[in-house]
Amino acid sequence: MRHLALGCLLSVGLSASAAPVPDSYVLKAARLFDAKAGRLVTPGMVVVTGDKVAAVGPGAKAPEGARVVDLGDATLLPGFMDAHTHLTGESGDDWRQDLIDSFQRTIPERTLEALPRARVTLMAGFTTVRDLGGADDIDLGLRNAIRRGLVVGPRILTATAALGTTGGHCDAGNSWRKGLLADETGVGVADGADALRAKVRERVKYGADLIKVCATGGVLSLNADVDSPQLTQAELDAIVDEAHARKRRVAAHAHGAEGALRAIRAGVDSIEHGSFLSDEALDLMKQKGTWFVPTCMAFQGVKERADKGQLPEDNVRKIRAVQEARRQALKKALARGVRIAFGTDAGVFTHGRNAGEFALLVEAGLSPVEALRAATVNTAELLGVSASLGTLEPGKLADVVAVPGNPLQDIRKTEAVFFVMKEGVIHRHDAGATPSVAR
Ligand SMILES: [Zn+2]
Repeated sequence: MRHLALGCLLSVGLSASAAPVPDSYVLKAARLFDAKAGRLVTPGMVVVTGDKVAAVGPGAKAPEGARVVDLGDATLLPGFMDAHTHLTGESGDDWRQDLIDSFQRTIPERTLEALPRARVTLMAGFTTVRDLGGADDIDLGLRNAIRRGLVVGPRILTATAALGTTGGHCDAGNSWRKGLLADETGVGVADGADALRAKVRERVKYGADLIKVCATGGVLSLNADVDSPQLTQAELDAIVDEAHARKRRVAAHAHGAEGALRAIRAGVDSIEHGSFLSDEALDLMKQKGTWFVPTCMAFQGVKERADKGQLPEDNVRKIRAVQEARRQALKKALARGVRIAFGTDAGVFTHGRNAGEFALLVEAGLSPVEALRAATVNTAELLGVSASLGTLEPGKLADVVAVPGNPLQDIRKTEAVFFVMKEGVIHRHDAGATPSVAR
């Protein structure tokens, strides 16, 4: 028998020679969100056998001995997916202290810090995340440890270290005086098409599931304008060509129009943030099917910190400057029908608040159905995992979450996830017969 995933106890005692008998569940609720069709089905019912969905819908036949979990006046949905997280980091309420910590804390200590972040992300209903820029391979270790069942967390696809150019947004040595750091630049930093092509090969060699590139300046870096392009067309072309040849997708951090345009032309799979996307850039995204990950929670999180005086003046100025522009860019993207995927930039704000993005997307003009589809079918497609995730259909992995009531009537219900199943294992169930997992 498989066990409830109680922290590190999971998988203890299981060996290849003693194959566990798969558990079967019948999950019942008042409604189910059909992410493919974009509508609610009543009543909701999902039959789970082992780690897969066996059947869906009121007529589904329950296997003998299946455990019935009746969630009452709730809605069953596919596990949420966040296409933009940073599990290896989290901003505190004092940027000066964060800076000191980053110099003092050892890699093992920072690895341990990532464990509760992974757990709280899963408990918030996010069963899959795409981590876009980790540090010191902590993201890789975390991904593998979760996969092996050593620790509890979402399934992770990681870009590992982000690629960028000297002095750019993803240069870890950015804004420090020369000679201060032993490693003057970030591991993903290089200049020139060939050197960046080699960086893609290196990231793939060390286990990257995808490639992240910083195509323009950023809000939280210093020493670089938020909107200036930071790679040439030839550099971006080389990165995308090499990544795609190795079947890795490319996510581009881009605020400014010119940097974004170069990235879109190069064929990146998604534009992250997109604050100053021009009509030309948006038209090209629509034409090429480039995904837009607007990361509304990132802007919200940075604004909250700016309002509380928790950021350096330069950053405060930057966030104030981009807010209106990025609202307009998102509005124009929606009007054109540019494909939207769900990503938050968690780490810029406290991990576990990921679902806050749903309400912000609805505020920006998406319907609740579109917002829910963004975090399920759409993000699954962006991540290239649609064959096994993103909808509740027979044969797919049993990643199922439940929220109270009807999220189409109140999108904020997504922030009250009370049941989480990942690959057929119940990780959270706040009420009823199943013991809930300590958070
Ligand atoms: Zn980010």
